[in-house]
Amino acid sequence: MAGLYIETFGCQMNEADSQEIADRATAAGYVVVAEPREASVVVLNTCTVRDNAERRAYGRMQHFRALKRADPSLKLVVCGCLAEQDRERIPGVAPHVDAVFGTSELARLGDALAAWRPEFRTDGKTEERLLVDSLGGKADCIADAFSPLRAFVTVQRGCSYYCTFCIVPHVRGRFDHRPMPEILSDVEVAASRGAREVMLVGQTVNAYRDSATGADFADLLERVVQLDCVERLTFVTSHPKDCTEKLARTLGAHAKLNPRFHLPVQSGSDAVLRRMNRKYTVADYRARVAAFRKHCPGWALTTDLIVGFPSETEEDFAQTLLLCEEMQFAQAFMFVYSPRRGTPAARWEQIPAEVANERLHRLIEVVERGIRAYHAKKTGTVVRALVQGPSRKDRAKIAAKTMDNVTVIAPASGTEQERFVALPWIDVAVEDSRVWGCSGRVVGLAANFDAEAEKVYPRDVIDLIHVA
Ligand code: SF4
Repeated sequence: MAGLYIETFGCQMNEADSQEIADRATAAGYVVVAEPREASVVVLNTCTVRDNAERRAYGRMQHFRALKRADPSLKLVVCGCLAEQDRERIPGVAPHVDAVFGTSELARLGDALAAWRPEFRTDGKTEERLLVDSLGGKADCIADAFSPLRAFVTVQRGCSYYCTFCIVPHVRGRFDHRPMPEILSDVEVAASRGAREVMLVGQTVNAYRDSATGADFADLLERVVQLDCVERLTFVTSHPKDCTEKLARTLGAHAKLNPRFHLPVQSGSDAVLRRMNRKYTVADYRARVAAFRKHCPGWALTTDLIVGFPSETEEDFAQTLLLCEEMQFAQAFMFVYSPRRGTPAARWEQIPAEVANERLHRLIEVVERGIRAYHAKKTGTVVRALVQGPSRKDRAKIAAKTMDNVTVIAPASGTEQERFVALPWIDVAVEDSRVWGCSGRVVGLAANFDAEAEKVYPRDVIDLIHVA
């Protein structure tokens, strides 16, 4: 059987694109495999949002050269944002790459997969390939028994906001909102394939507009939650500029929505926000958050932050720290500014790396205090979470995500883990918490989010029952 291996870098948009590539490949007769050495086609879905994502993608291209040498029939494909940006450069740097597809060429990629399909042997691998066991990396592969539990549905492509640090509008183009009926149909298909949680994805989802009806993102959410097949719904990413009172009210009105709102602020300084072209002030951000908290009490607020942006002064940075103290984010993605070729900010005078790194450390200290406090509140409680799969660090443990997107880890044997495919909602008694999430033990399993859990007894209790 011809196998397709996908490695995905970057944001949920790329995750959604990988899912679409996998769907097109499956329709063309491929099986999505968990190991590159089992594949007939390897797809690298790349990201260029930061310099290290770009370097990592080039590193992986070189890494797969050995696999290609061992089996020249293997096809190596590069797609995603780096492919769009470096379309001309990739063949020079990595001549063993068979094809490069930009961000708007998923249909062409699907056609190429279908055209290649008859070339592959039915057993999918050669002896030489089996010897290449150094290529076992399973990073970000989308094929395992738990993957279908979550589905990404794209609501829009591209972005028209042109933040001065961001490469997205340059590689993905301006907003292209999908018609609402198409989105609803994709959600239904995802649910029929076993998705328990649907994530609506877009670079700026809350700027969504259905061109036929003028419906906005709040209207879209209303329609999606009304679908009986939808168990849990979430979305990412939102822009503060498009946060309306109507959206906050809609979020608070529907129990199917996961209680987590990701609202990137990037900086706590108006001067920096202006230079970033973010289109809001710190006061605007505060007002949006106040409206959100009024309608959605108890929801987790998460964010993105950039430090060391060109011209950021110590005073600007102090304002970011103050805002973080005040907001108490439940999670934050924090980065040192990374110049991206072709964006305005890349041409401006840069902050010295040691200054930016030192600020990042101070920021992490402040933000992580808030995250620790948020996670600590779960200790001593039982949380319901959707299974993700075996923990990457210890496969004798299961990893799951709570509805507010906190990672929970608990011991679970292989046989126990097999049960989670049919009963993917686990109740975890939280015993400890850290910055990365919480740990505890599984005390219940349920087939549905709002179903009563089937109790799981600890081993020593089972032993006592057997002795009695
Ligand atoms: S809103 Fe700004 S940061 Fe987000 S995708 Fe658009 S340009 Fe990039």
